[in-house]
Amino acid sequence: MPAGIRVLLDGGAIGQSENRLAGDPQWENGIMSILAIDIGGTKFSMALFEDGQMIRHETHATQREGGREWMVEQILSIARLWRGSNSFESCGIGFGGPVDFAAQRVALSTHVDTWQNFPLASCIQDELGVPAVIDNDANVGGLGEARYGAGAGYDPLFYMTLSTGIGGGLIAGGNIYRGADSYAGEIGHTTVRPGGPLCLCGACGCLERMCAGIWMERDYGKTAKELMTDPAFVLRYVVDLAIGLKSVIMLLNPARIVIGGGIGKAGDRLFVPLRAELRRQITSWSRARIDVVPAALGDDSVLWGALALAQS
Ligand SMILES: [Zn+2]
Repeated sequence: MPAGIRVLLDGGAIGQSENRLAGDPQWENGIMSILAIDIGGTKFSMALFEDGQMIRHETHATQREGGREWMVEQILSIARLWRGSNSFESCGIGFGGPVDFAAQRVALSTHVDTWQNFPLASCIQDELGVPAVIDNDANVGGLGEARYGAGAGYDPLFYMTLSTGIGGGLIAGGNIYRGADSYAGEIGHTTVRPGGPLCLCGACGCLERMCAGIWMERDYGKTAKELMTDPAFVLRYVVDLAIGLKSVIMLLNPARIVIGGGIGKAGDRLFVPLRAELRRQITSWSRARIDVVPAALGDDSVLWGALALAQS
C-alpha cells in the first residue's frame, strides 16, 4: 500500500467515519458503499458500488468555464445527496490529467488552470469524512479493465484511452505501474511525427496531437465518430496510431492492449485495420503478441477502476 494512503487509513479517517456514522441504520447493518468518481475533460461520472455491484450512476457534462471550483461543488453535492441513503466506506477518483500519486494531488489539467497542484483526495476526504484516493484516469481505467473487463487474466496489460485526448496505463502484477514520478504510461505524448504540429504539451507530433478527437475535429472539420465511418481515412489514421502502439509492444511486451474511450468504440472498422498495420510495422523478427481489443466496460472503465483503487 502506498505510504500516502497508509497515512490516510492510520490517520484516523476511518475512525472518524465510524463515530460520525454511529446510529446510522445502514452502518449498523454493515451495508457500506464505495464512491467512485471519474473526472474527464468533457464529462464527469459518479457511481456507488455495493458488494461489487454498481447500484447508482450519474454522468453530467463538464462546465469547463466553471473550473475546479464548479467541479468540486458538483461532486460534493451529488455525494451528499447519495449519503442520505448510503454510507460511504471509501472513495476512488480517476482524474483526466496528470496526478502526483505520492502526494495525492492533481498535478495539472491541460484544459483548466485552476487544478494545478490541487489536493483533491484530501479535499473529498475532509468534506465527506471518508478516505479517498486519486490517480490519473487512464491508470484507473486500466485497473478497471484489468480487474473486471477485457484485460482480466492478461498480465501485464496496457490500456489506452482514445478519446478527446489520449492517455495510457500499465497494469503489471495486478497493480498500476506509475514510474518514479507518477508519469509512466503517457503514450499520448510519445512522438510519432517528428517536426509535426504542435501539441498542447508544447512538443510537436505527439500521438495525441495526431490521433486524439479534439485535434481530428480541428484538422479535418468532422467529428472523430464521422471520420471513423470513412475506411480511407481510417487506413491513414491507423498508421500513426500503430507507431505509438508499436513502442508499447516493443518496450513492454504486454499480454494484451485494451483500447477504451469514444474512438475505441468504432469496433472492427478501427481494430481490423489497426491490427493489420501493427503486423506491417512489427516485423516477424519479434515474437511479441499483437493482441489489441476494445474495452469491455464501455464508458465505465474508470468507475470500475476507482472501485478497485478504493479497495486497494
Ligand atoms: Zn504532447
